[in-house]
Amino acid sequence: MSRTDLHDRIQAHARLRAAQGRQRRRRIVSRRDGVQVELDGRWLTGFCSNDYLGLASQFEVAAAVQDAAAREGAGSTASHLVCGHHALHEQLEREMAEWLGVPRALLFGSGFAANLAVQQALLTEEEDVCVQDRLNHASLIDATRLAGCRLRRYPHLDAEGAMRQLRSASGGAAMLATDSVFSMDGDSAPLRALALVARSEQALLYVDDAHGIGVVGEHGRGSVADAGLGVHDVPLQLVTLGKALGGYGALVAGDAELIEHLAGNARPYIYTTALPPAQAAASLAALRLARRGDWRRERLRELIALFREGAGRLGLELMASNTPIQPVLCGGDVVASAMSAALEEAGFLVGAIRPPTVPEGRSRLRVTLSALHTPQQVQALVVAIADARDRAAAAGASPA
Ligand SMILES: *Cc1c(COP(=O)(O)O)cnc(C)c1O
Repeated sequence: MSRTDLHDRIQAHARLRAAQGRQRRRRIVSRRDGVQVELDGRWLTGFCSNDYLGLASQFEVAAAVQDAAAREGAGSTASHLVCGHHALHEQLEREMAEWLGVPRALLFGSGFAANLAVQQALLTEEEDVCVQDRLNHASLIDATRLAGCRLRRYPHLDAEGAMRQLRSASGGAAMLATDSVFSMDGDSAPLRALALVARSEQALLYVDDAHGIGVVGEHGRGSVADAGLGVHDVPLQLVTLGKALGGYGALVAGDAELIEHLAGNARPYIYTTALPPAQAAASLAALRLARRGDWRRERLRELIALFREGAGRLGLELMASNTPIQPVLCGGDVVASAMSAALEEAGFLVGAIRPPTVPEGRSRLRVTLSALHTPQQVQALVVAIADARDRAAAAGASPA
């Protein structure tokens, strides 16, 4: 019997991607200064990072890494359960739980790993079910595959759809999982309605607040607190450290008994090296700045309003988002790529998001705003996007 050759397979896949113009390529950033990034020797104004509060380059955050690394070294040397659990990790877990107003929090190497861990450790039977929003993050979908239980998806933001899916999948334990702020759309899940559904269907509501923490809610406490929900409604939530908090890693926060179970049973927690303590020190500094960073959130709100108003005036197609994620719909992926390239020529770095990350015909420029942007930069970006659109339209209209 002849086997499939893996090189043949991936070459065919690469040819298909190339024919569709959908290769993914990495760009090399040689230097970074706030929202400015140097790419291929040219400085561009970036509108594509998740550094919403501008904390990644904040002096106190970078100084905390240096100080902790000077004392504790570069790595944690082991997993948490062996001898890698450092006082800085413990302190970060305690302060995060306190900020969120929940009993406990558990630190993970990344949000992706944390999402895998939660489902793998809790949904252990084949008859269990995880009901998810159709546009949830890839890590939540993959988590259900890893857990090996049933996966049911409902239409985007549709709490009644979630109810129907839960009702049609009876037996076993159930989890209702949703992004709070959707990473490619910027819109927000109806958390209060989902909490009612979860309660009536006896499902555990799990909220992935990767893009909400630090940005949404009073003092930046995130989407769950902003919805007026507590640990009884949302027994577990994910907050990441790599977005508004400017660092790396993630925490799962909530009910003490569930958290204790994760710490003792989740394979993506047990069998991996703990984050460097210096990274935890950076996140502690960032957390404290985010908590008292109302002025950063205020500034962000002003920039979001400015962007939406300007984009609306120039007829750009926006999405229903009041978060720093402000996608501009382009339609086809060729147009999105052409617009991204034109923006780069004009001095702006904005990513084009294309299928399979988003559905066919829904390619977009994923514009993200940061408290570090100036109103002038945002206004200039809006004008440049409209120019790029007009140029792409003219190129599309002319015979090839
Ligand atoms: C980025 C992201 C993750 C993964 O977090 P990392 O810490 O980057 O691994 C999980 N969920 C959502 C919704 C995200 O946007």
